[in-house]
Amino acid sequence: MSITHWIDGKPWTGPAARTGEVFNPATGEVAATVGFAGPTEIEAAVAAARAAFPAWRDASLAKRSSVLFGFRELVNARKADLVDIITAEHGKVTDDAAGEVQRALEAVEFACGVPALLKGGYSENVSARVDVYSIRQPLGVVGVVSPFNFPAMVPLWFVPNAVACGNCVVLKPSEKDPSASVFIAELFAEAGLPDGVLNVLHGDKVAVDGLLEHPDVRAISFVGSTPIARHVYETGTRHGKRVQALGGAKNHMVVLPDADLDLAADAAVSAGFGSAGERCMAVSVVVAVDPVGDELVARIRDRIAKLKVGDGRRRGCEMGPLVTAAHRDRVLSYVHGGAAELVVDGRDHEIDGAPGGFWLGPTLFDHVTPDMPLYTDEIFGPVLSVVRSSSYSDALDLVNTNAYGNGTAIFTNDGGAARRFQNEVEVGMVGVNVPIPVPVGYYSFGGWKDSLFGDTHAYGPDGVHFFTRTKVVTSRWLDPSHGGVNLGFPRNT
Ligand code: NAD
Repeated sequence: MSITHWIDGKPWTGPAARTGEVFNPATGEVAATVGFAGPTEIEAAVAAARAAFPAWRDASLAKRSSVLFGFRELVNARKADLVDIITAEHGKVTDDAAGEVQRALEAVEFACGVPALLKGGYSENVSARVDVYSIRQPLGVVGVVSPFNFPAMVPLWFVPNAVACGNCVVLKPSEKDPSASVFIAELFAEAGLPDGVLNVLHGDKVAVDGLLEHPDVRAISFVGSTPIARHVYETGTRHGKRVQALGGAKNHMVVLPDADLDLAADAAVSAGFGSAGERCMAVSVVVAVDPVGDELVARIRDRIAKLKVGDGRRRGCEMGPLVTAAHRDRVLSYVHGGAAELVVDGRDHEIDGAPGGFWLGPTLFDHVTPDMPLYTDEIFGPVLSVVRSSSYSDALDLVNTNAYGNGTAIFTNDGGAARRFQNEVEVGMVGVNVPIPVPVGYYSFGGWKDSLFGDTHAYGPDGVHFFTRTKVVTSRWLDPSHGGVNLGFPRNT
């Protein structure tokens, strides 16, 4: 099978100068090849978006929101197909993929309310017979670049708001699991989105840099690892674009001595090993505040032993493979090289899947210290580190001195401690007895520090802000007493 770009409402039929392989991670087999964009395809996608823009920007709000409502209905109706596509190329188990689609729908539903979201302000009589009002207008052609780990949800964090606000989009999904984006574009077309409003361009750095440097692309929403996010932010802004670039993470879960340890152990295992740890909101560090460490580690170890790891399409499997062999091997290098105490070795876990799959079972390290690569690096796999901490203040310092600031959680029964933590912690998304605090679709998603470059977060109100620019109109309808020439600076009287 070969996967091709979606440009101007149809599959691209031109030859591909370069291609990449798309694997079934549960078997290790090549399932498809995907064509990589070069200058011709980049130009075609941007040109299609640019051509579609004048009509789409002037489409009524009623028309735009009806397309989004139609798209929502289609995603609901075809959810099982989308879930299968995600599992086939990413490897996450079907229940997890269904959760991804459900959370993606929140962002779609938010964008359905675009007529209310684009309401401006109006002030009558700011001066005698002068009125002022603000309007929000689309930017034009915008680029969306997404990572492999949420092949449906991350594109849908951005595309619905972007098109609802009247923009035309070139979406560059991850080359590791590109099919979900094409399926999304097909459903949008079926829902009545005009040709060229949403285009899907496959590829790698060449495609991304092509969008970053293209003079007709006004803005870029990026999600991926921190080094690439930094590159995207610096290159995009240097080329005069509005950029939001969400990066990597190292999320800490702080467990205070008064916490419910069963709840904390359940949360650490769920948030550490769900989606094989390939979530930017995964918990990768448990900070056990004395004296809970030994007991907490024992409870986490017991739970890991019961996890069913295997092919995501098999009933009962809770954790699937890693996305590629190269990524699995990189994650494995931390298991080989980990200098801390290896409590559970994921290489020994029983696997319910084909031997060629990209497997690594859940792995647990204890007594990890902040100088170890296990702690400093984003591993992005099923490797959970426990750091021992002597007090709340030590735990807070650890979180606040970490380079990343995406998500964090505190587990405690002390409301005062939790409130202090939410106030003092330097992280963008905080959970109180909630391990994966991904905001609902009507808030916005984003981290601090090296987890986000730019100032607006993804989806929700920040998404509308990012995909529009404001215009303020000062208006006076002349009457016979307009007063003649006056070279002074206009004052309000
Ligand atoms: P990645 O950075 O390798 O790739 C992301 C996108 O950038 C892909 O579309 C890829 O094709 C493109 N890309 C890769 N190398 C590039 C280069 N040199 N120049 C230009 N573009 C390039 O990330 P990934 O491995 O696909 O995804 C995992 C990462 O994404 C993790 O670091 C994870 O934490 C992060 N992530 C962050 C969030 C968030 O909201 N902060 C959400 C999901 C994933």
